[in-house]
Order: sequence, then C-alpha cells, then structure tokens
Amino acid sequence: MRPETPATRPSPPAQKCAEEATSKAARAGVPLTPGRRRILDLLAQERKPLGAYQMIEKIGEATGKRPAPISIYRALDFLLENGLIHRLASCNSYLACRHGHGDKEPIVFLICEKCGQVIEASSAELAEGLVTLATREHFQPRMQVMEIAGLCEACCLQT
Ligand SMILES: [Zn+2]
Ligand SMILES: [Zn+2]
Repeated sequence: MRPETPATRPSPPAQKCAEEATSKAARAGVPLTPGRRRILDLLAQERKPLGAYQMIEKIGEATGKRPAPISIYRALDFLLENGLIHRLASCNSYLACRHGHGDKEPIVFLICEKCGQVIEASSAELAEGLVTLATREHFQPRMQVMEIAGLCEACCLQT
C-alpha cells in the first residue's frame, strides 16, 4: 500500500488529539467518568500505544497514586466497547481512535517497529476487497482489524 492513501492523515499535535478523542465521546453521547476520561486523555496525548501497566505508571506519576489494575481494565473495556480506543493484539497495548471511521468499517493499523508510531487507516478499496473475500469464503465478518508491522516514513528515511 502506498503511504499517501486519502484516508491516511498526518499525525495532528497531541493536544488536538486529546480534544478530538473527548469530543468524539461527547458526540456519541458516551458518559465519561473522571477515571475513564483520564485514560482516554492519556492515550490521546501519547504518540504510541500504551500497555495497561504503562498507564498505571503514568497515572501514578501524574497523580501520586497508582490506580488498581482492575479499575484500569474496566475503564479500558468501557472505552473499547464504545469505539473510543483500540486494542492492538500484536503488542497487547491500547491507542485512542484518531480516525473518523464507522463502526463496521475495516481498519488497518500500520505499526512502525522502529519508533512505535501507529497509523490508523482505512479505504473504500480495502472495504470492497474484504467484502469480496468474505463472500467468497461464505464468511460473515464481525470485526475487521488488521495489524501491519513495518517502518514509518520517517524511519524509512533514516535507514
Ligand atoms: Zn479507530
Ligand atoms: Zn517509525
């Protein structure tokens, strides 16, 4: 895939990401308790996906009190269910959704193995291709998420 597909956007600044993520929650009418909002803000400000224990460390540093893992996992489950964040299975970590995709739209995560940056992308061609593929296999997809490992543009230029 060429890096310049229309659905691939350059990364906006962290502050803007945090605003986008929380305004997406507001638009969707998702109630955010302070604990859930803190996790969403943390993920939205971070350029890289975070694991649950990294989040506990960061919240501990910021507030002086380490939250219990169970409360973090509950908040993550809630944010996942409401489509505000995604879980990357290949690195067991989470990231805020920065893409305006629909619920059923296929998503591709392009994961840079060098700097850890993740680009979330989607395209009409991809959606079409997957429909054809699933139909051929008589398969009804529920979730359409792909994780692709490689090098981002900046890291490619460095090598
Ligand atoms: Zn997303
Ligand atoms: Zn990179």
